[in-house]
Amino acid sequence: MSECIFCMIANGDIPAKVVLDEGDILAFDDIAPQGPIHTLIIPKHHYSDMGDAVPAEMMATIFSAVPRIAAMKGIAESGYRVIVNNGRDAAQTVGHLHVHVIGGNPMAHGMVHFVDVD
Ligand code: 5GP
Ligand code: ZN
Repeated sequence: MSECIFCMIANGDIPAKVVLDEGDILAFDDIAPQGPIHTLIIPKHHYSDMGDAVPAEMMATIFSAVPRIAAMKGIAESGYRVIVNNGRDAAQTVGHLHVHVIGGNPMAHGMVHFVDVD
């Protein structure tokens, strides 16, 4: 998937602020952070989303990195939100599976904002 921006980051073809580079996964800071801390975790292999036959072990590897990344970022105690935008209706914009870890300030309760529908 040479046209995939996250594959390019995983391959080192474009730069990113890497937080964790560990085996089959890579974590790096979001280019347009939605909070003081906004880190993305990706598998280095291209999966378009959670429905793309992602091995259970890969999902476990990705999610088990979350609390460690939170600790590295200093938000383990204060808390953080973990988000996967999966597919069109979730407004996934990059078609390479990724997990958002967002924190650093208190957030409003709730996390689902549907666009207006007729
Ligand atoms: P999505 O909307 O697909 O769940 O999230 C994609 C995220 O990737 C967005 O938060 C966006 O800011 C981030 N992003 C898009 N392009 C780049 C990039 O080239 N580098 C980095 N570090 N983040 C990116
Ligand atoms: Zn990719």
